[in-house]
Amino acid sequence: MSGEELVLRSTRVITPEGTRAASVVVSDGTITAVRAYDAAVPTRARVEDFGDDVLLPGLVDTHVHVNDPGRTEWEGFWTATRAAAAGGITTLVDMPLNSLPPTTSVANLRTKKEVAAAKAHIDVGFWGGALPDNVKDLRPLHDAGVFGFKCFLSPSGVDEFPELTQDQLAVSMGEIAGFGGLLIVHAEDPHELAAAPAKGGPRYTDFLHSRPRVSEDTAIEGLIAVAKRIGARVHVLHLSSSDALPLIAAAKREGVRLTVETCPHYLTLTAEEVPDGASEFKCCPPIREAANQDLLWQALADGTIDCVVTDHSPSTVDLKTADFATAWGGISGLQLSLPAVWTAARERGHTLEDVVRWMSTHTADLVGLAQKGAIEAGRDADFAVLAPDETFTVDPARLQHRNRVTAYAGKTLSGVVKSTWLRGQRIVSDGEFTEPTGRLLERKN
Ligand SMILES: [Zn+2]
Repeated sequence: MSGEELVLRSTRVITPEGTRAASVVVSDGTITAVRAYDAAVPTRARVEDFGDDVLLPGLVDTHVHVNDPGRTEWEGFWTATRAAAAGGITTLVDMPLNSLPPTTSVANLRTKKEVAAAKAHIDVGFWGGALPDNVKDLRPLHDAGVFGFKCFLSPSGVDEFPELTQDQLAVSMGEIAGFGGLLIVHAEDPHELAAAPAKGGPRYTDFLHSRPRVSEDTAIEGLIAVAKRIGARVHVLHLSSSDALPLIAAAKREGVRLTVETCPHYLTLTAEEVPDGASEFKCCPPIREAANQDLLWQALADGTIDCVVTDHSPSTVDLKTADFATAWGGISGLQLSLPAVWTAARERGHTLEDVVRWMSTHTADLVGLAQKGAIEAGRDADFAVLAPDETFTVDPARLQHRNRVTAYAGKTLSGVVKSTWLRGQRIVSDGEFTEPTGRLLERKN
């Protein structure tokens, strides 16, 4: 559509200044102006009017396990990015583990990019991995454009991605801080996990007791201490334990360079409702009690938690056994994250603007993607068109990710994504996809 102008109109456009009736002018894939709804349309421009459906910035999901190449039977770039597009997500950042190879060296990053290039329906960036033995690879990976580095403090679930000890954490963090990078951390303490009762079997309560809140709290406390000492920028992945919130709030007040994410499943599903043997609800850290969830929502509202990301982490169906101890841990949420979060958010009195801030603006900020995360002149023309009051019942057969296991089956959700736009091109509309036009993104700051 080069040169040709496009005008997208809605009575409800979510902009950084609030929601208003507007027309968004797009040229060569970039937003060039946000004007009044009835502003004169440039000659030869094509107009799309969405009426009362909401035009919001495409979501930026910075926590996705695509698993491609190597475990492509679990998930791949083709299926994951289609699921994301169908859910209003226009950018994802791929986690460095569960693919083979993991993204722990420049050569491995190159392999991943070659695989992703032709299959990406949305824009894709990459996290690198920090392992005990790859400190020398961190700087080259940073220079090659990864958005930061993920590490574990407890076993990751796959052998090729070992966790860091406290000493190794300090070494890697020091190295990353030295070049101004970002360290993102799966924060569960291995000693607290080892000390927890581990009965195994199909009862969800037993699984919950095996991953207690204190394992998160202890790991986060230790992480904050090291980050403070080194002056590093760190990010806590998938926070589930509300008991860690006072620690986090205090560290932020003190000026520790700390950000925190949580996930749709912690905000919308509760331990009380998980049926025994239903390992589609298994993830680590686990979905906790309703009272814990209330505090996570409060923390989102007051800014203690910065953003909401899916942690989409699927596997094949056979690995989702009825034994919570051995089943693969991971919840597939790409396609449903927006309606799931919106449904719960509105019940608690939050607005769609809040949801956009948590799932698009703040996540774009986290990875320094200045061209994403908002509808304003100069940014990429990435949008989701949402009918916020329309409801649907989740039918696994309509999901686009590779293995249609979902913790949301049968739930009635508000918010139907009517279409998704990437750089001014409609990439999915009512379940119909265009050929992939996603680009591979690199860190710029
Ligand atoms: Zn994850």
